[in-house]
Amino acid sequence: MFKKILIANRGEIAVRVIRACRELGIKTVAVYSTADNAALHTLIADESVCIGPPASKDSYLNMKALISACEITGAEAIHPGYGFLSENAAFVRLCEKCGIKWIGPPADAIEAMGDKANAKETMKKAGVPVVPGSDGAVKTVEEAEKIADEIGYPILIKASSGGGGRGIRPVHKKEELKDQIQAAKTEAKAFFGDDAVYIEKFVENPRHVEIQLLADEHGNVIHLGERDCSCQRRNQKLIEETPCPSGSMTEELRARMGAAAIKGAKACNYTNAGTVEFLLDKHGGFYFMEMNTRIQVEHPVTEMATGVDLIKAQIKVAAGETLESMEIRQEAVKFNGHAIECRINAEDPKNNFRPSPGKISALHVPGGFGVRLDTAIFQGYEIPPNYDSMVAKVIVRGKDRAEAIQKMRVALSEFLIEGVVCNIDFQLELLREEEFTSGDYDIGFLGRRNEKK
Ligand code: ADP
Ligand code: ADP
Ligand code: MG
Repeated sequence: MFKKILIANRGEIAVRVIRACRELGIKTVAVYSTADNAALHTLIADESVCIGPPASKDSYLNMKALISACEITGAEAIHPGYGFLSENAAFVRLCEKCGIKWIGPPADAIEAMGDKANAKETMKKAGVPVVPGSDGAVKTVEEAEKIADEIGYPILIKASSGGGGRGIRPVHKKEELKDQIQAAKTEAKAFFGDDAVYIEKFVENPRHVEIQLLADEHGNVIHLGERDCSCQRRNQKLIEETPCPSGSMTEELRARMGAAAIKGAKACNYTNAGTVEFLLDKHGGFYFMEMNTRIQVEHPVTEMATGVDLIKAQIKVAAGETLESMEIRQEAVKFNGHAIECRINAEDPKNNFRPSPGKISALHVPGGFGVRLDTAIFQGYEIPPNYDSMVAKVIVRGKDRAEAIQKMRVALSEFLIEGVVCNIDFQLELLREEEFTSGDYDIGFLGRRNEKK
């Protein structure tokens, strides 16, 4: 097992990884930008190394500084968390060259799946159903028009390197396509450094259902069931739950989706934790959308329902352990009760969800039986304006969905964050909506709700 791990991230996920390392008796190295001098991960790690100024590109994305930090501290492995360099194959190769173990999938698997257009090709070849659209990236406007005519409008233009709900554009009719392709390419280049885009049929009102995978470095791959992440605002997840609500998931469908995800993972020699995202339609048809080759924000709902610590599993897999030796067998994975996560963002729902950085003047956190809080905030902490606005995740598990929703309501109504504006009340409103409580919602839920108002 590793003696020392460097965490190339910040915020709640850095804290989450530090905790897992501690449980395993592994020393931790935090890295921080000058904006994160007094951040929780900087304070609680065994050692902390400053890696640059606030801008992500100069710090959390600064490969050389991260490698140097490993060398200075003697860290043997890097856990990348999510976002930042977590899906950067070039960085994985650099780590390997420097003798640093990457706690994540191999560079080749990231490359095969990280480019969303290529990933669909790979999955299609492996026999996994994919959302209809272009075969790989579209090169010309003519090609795009031809494909769009074939699959029919509305369509989506998606950036091949997109992520975090960004780089997705709807196109409703042919006349708009040319301009939209140009705009999408320009935007993709600016945001992701890659102007490749691909086309996909716009699926009406599906659910977003994803499968959690865990693969060791000895050829074994298992799935840990699904998460329903259909509660989204502008393609960004807000609430996640497992199992899928309202009977939209059966044992049989879960087994089929799980098998499809595993097939995809095996096709690219995947190892470590990963998630395969699907769209699920009303008739039980499911279509591969993308694979996230890293730990995900919403991993705790799976942990709460299955009892498997995914971060510890990631570390053990990277250290060469087998799923078998960790006693994680497909047949033994059991789903207990219902788990829900609400993402708490420092943003103002009354002001178009504008980020609300600043100092937390007072804080009271929820707790109790079946309530979990993953966060890096504390009283007196100043949320910097430079990074993602997500500041906490409240996760609950109840014996069934109704109990989980009720627990979440109680937890959120206890949660007080003063000094900055947060979306806690907004989340509480969503938990009261009939469409949500009935469980019969899909990815159009928030859009429709917005129109009604
Ligand atoms: P998850 O599926 O884990 O919920 P999200 O889509 O919410 O992932 O993204 C997790 C984090 O990573 C967010 O902070 C998001 O902004 C960031 N992120 C993910 N992919 C990219 C990308 N390609 N470019 C920039 N940021 C990204
Ligand atoms: P990202 O890499 O940003 O996570 P995804 O490809 O996973 O992007 O899409 C983000 C969200 O956008 C999905 O969860 C879904 O709600 C919506 N979406 C993506 N593709 C489609 C599609 N073809 N039809 C309808 N909605 C889609
Ligand atoms: Mg996605």
